[in-house]
Amino acid sequence: MEKVIIVRYGEVSLKGINRPYFEDTLIKNLKRALRKYEGLTIFKKDSRIYIENLGSADPIQIAAEASKVFGVVSVSVASKLDSDLEQIKAAALEMVSQKLAAGYFPSFKVETKRADKSFHLQSQEISKMVGGFILKHSAGLKVDVHRPALTVYVEIRDYAYLYTDKIPGFGGMPYATNGKALLLLSGGIDSPVAGWLMAKRGVEVEAVHFHSYPFTSERAKEKVISLARIIAEYCRVIKLHIVNLLEIQQAIRANCPEEYFTIISRRYMMFIAEKIAVQNECSGLITGESLGQVASQTIQSLAVTNAAVDLPIFRPLIGMDKSEITGLAQKIGTYETSILPYEDCCTVFLPKRPALKPRLEKILKAETGLDRETLIKNALDKMEVFSIKPY
Ligand code: ATP
Ligand code: MG
Repeated sequence: MEKVIIVRYGEVSLKGINRPYFEDTLIKNLKRALRKYEGLTIFKKDSRIYIENLGSADPIQIAAEASKVFGVVSVSVASKLDSDLEQIKAAALEMVSQKLAAGYFPSFKVETKRADKSFHLQSQEISKMVGGFILKHSAGLKVDVHRPALTVYVEIRDYAYLYTDKIPGFGGMPYATNGKALLLLSGGIDSPVAGWLMAKRGVEVEAVHFHSYPFTSERAKEKVISLARIIAEYCRVIKLHIVNLLEIQQAIRANCPEEYFTIISRRYMMFIAEKIAVQNECSGLITGESLGQVASQTIQSLAVTNAAVDLPIFRPLIGMDKSEITGLAQKIGTYETSILPYEDCCTVFLPKRPALKPRLEKILKAETGLDRETLIKNALDKMEVFSIKPY
């Protein structure tokens, strides 16, 4: 019996006139994600995507990988057979027997969807007949239509498709269908999650990281490259810009009040990020800021940071608690890398008492002692750029 994979997508199909574009991009992204499996056919039919010609590859493995592609709502490994009641009964029984062999379960039901209305039986009748057949041939099982331990799904379309499991996907929109933005990627827990969330909404992601070498180590930089690589697993190649902020931080320390060190460094990050974004056709910036988490993330501080740039700043974590963010970091696989204990450039010149409610006029005044243009130009002249490929 042929095994195939059914890929369901939700929001993508709501996009009206853009629908074919979103669907085609989703197929392209699936092909890219599964490129190591040779000979697969991936195509659209009945508002779903089918993956066929699996060859000797493990269908469950392919399904698991497909479920990680943004835009995918759920995935099932299905048996594909002719729409013939006897064949359907036999295949359903085989599926249930395999499940029983893997571990006993007390109840099941059969749920049928008849998309091909020319099929001679109605959905209810098919479910009844297939269910009855399973009952007759498996001892100790009962039917429970309300809370079954196992559901056997039967779909009658051009062929009959049978499956028992739906692997949930992340949802979202196909990668790179919603413009491009530049992620300010630190080595912390938050910013990788912020980048992932925007990528999930279809935003193509580039990244910039600021370090303070030699105050921060080479290993801190390697850590950020590792984080970018994990995010690239969900995206494509990520262009990572690495900028040394040390000269700027030293200038700030020499010329600005201590309580403003962090906020002014943050504004310089924004100045530089905006320049990189514009050069790379990114229409926005992304940060991992979450309201009130630290002094530089109070509403007043965020306002002062925003005032540094014209581009919109996307902060997908703004209303999340640390525990939610940490949970997501674990789910996407960045957490273990994020907690490696290397120094961050922001901690190099940490003020003892950072301003909690900075006012823009005061910050602008404090910045007058800095030669902004030269500082930014020097930093950009020494910028390194990497293309980070997925593992
Ligand atoms: P994260 O866990 O993402 O480092 P955080 O809670 O430590 O966040 P901050 O250090 O205040 O918070 O940084 C807030 C945001 O500013 C980060 O999420 C990131 O987007 C950006 N940022 C901070 N430091 C850097 C850096 N060294 N390089 C690039 N972006 C940075
Ligand atoms: Mg940080």
